[in-house]
Formats: sequence, C-alpha cells, structure tokens
Amino acid sequence: MNTGTLYIISAPSGAGKTSLVKQLAATLDNLTVSISHTTRQARPGEIEGQDYYFVSLSDFEIMLQKQAFVEHAQVFDNFYGTAQQTVKDNLAQGLDVILEIDWQGAQQIRTIFPDSVSIFILPPSTDVLRQRLNNRAQDDEQTIARRMRDAVTEMQHHAEFDYLIVNDAFEQALMELKSILITQRLTLQKQSCRLKVMLTSLLSGS
Ligand code: 5GP
Repeated sequence: MNTGTLYIISAPSGAGKTSLVKQLAATLDNLTVSISHTTRQARPGEIEGQDYYFVSLSDFEIMLQKQAFVEHAQVFDNFYGTAQQTVKDNLAQGLDVILEIDWQGAQQIRTIFPDSVSIFILPPSTDVLRQRLNNRAQDDEQTIARRMRDAVTEMQHHAEFDYLIVNDAFEQALMELKSILITQRLTLQKQSCRLKVMLTSLLSGS
C-alpha cells in the first residue's frame, strides 16, 4: 500500500502561506490539509471545522491529556495542536497531508515522522511583510507590531527546513510549491509502489 507524504509548511504570519496552501489544495489531487485545533478566537470570516476547530482551553487540555495531538505548541498567546488520528488515517489511505504549523510543531513532527518534507515560505522583504500585516486589518496595531517581532523569531528557524520558497509573485511561489509535491511523488520509492503492476508487466516482456 502506498502511503502518503507528510508535508510541513511554516512561515511567518503575513508570508501568504494560507493562500498558497488553499490554492495548492485546489489544484492537486490526493492531497488534504490538516485542520488544527486552537484556543484562539475565530477571526471574522473564519469557519469552524474549515479554518480551525476552535476549542476552549479546558477542551484543549483534555485532548492533551488523552494524547490526541501528534504535535502542539503555544504560538502568540494561544495553543494550537494537530489531531493525531486524522493525520495517520489520511497518510495510511495514501493521501498527502499538509500541516500548516509553526517551527515548534515542525521540530516535533520531524522526530516522529523523519520522512516528512518541510517547506518554509519567506516574504520578499521586511517592508512587504509589514505591508501585508497592515493590509490584513484583522488585527489591531499592537498585535501587528508583536507579529512583526514574532515573524523574525519564526524566520530564524528557516534553516531547519528542506525547502525555501520566497512568496514575492504568488503564481511563481505556487508553481514552486507544486513542483516540490510533484517531484516527491515521482521518487523511485513512491513510483515503484504506485506502478507495481505496470512495472511487473513491463519487466516480464509480455
Ligand atoms: P494564526 O492564528 O495566525 O492562524 O496562526 C498562528 C501560527 O500558528 C501560524 O504560524 C500557524 O502556522 C501556527 N499554527 C496553526 N496551527 C498550528 C498547529 O496545529 N500546530 C502548531 N504548532 N502551530 C500551528
């Protein structure tokens, strides 16, 4: 059975990670994006069960106690976690799974899934990053200033990742992201599994 590949995608807030991942999922088949649990409040327009599962701190703690998370972290003032069972089930079904998580979660996932592939998305400059955070208008000024500082902390971990993508022009960044997933699907290991019947027939000469 061909199992899926686990992808970790991290970026500082404002690098455009979520838009890239949404578009990627809309254009590639056999791919699912993990929906995290978080204790933070939903932002305007965010949908329960689509963007996140929004849970109370006590519910999050219960899940922690039950070891329901494959990784979890405190980011800003909130807790985030990835449900273990869903990820494992999806991988076992042969689906590629994307985790949009921070550098702390990425470190935990690498130790549990050494075959995971990690991608870090960078903004093209500090000015562009600041502009994008301002344009969001979802957060107040104080939050934006803090996110700028946190963005630097996040970017300090870029060297722990397998791939780096600069999201300057969206379509270019999307093409690069897609290329990584397609290349991964073409490795000998994945292809020999997927093409087993065809290879057997080709090699038998009949
Ligand atoms: P936001 O609240 O802006 O959606 O996300 C804040 C940060 O939390 C982002 O860096 C995002 O990647 C990270 N994050 C979202 N879900 C998870 C998760 O399940 N685990 C971890 N470790 N980080 C997460």
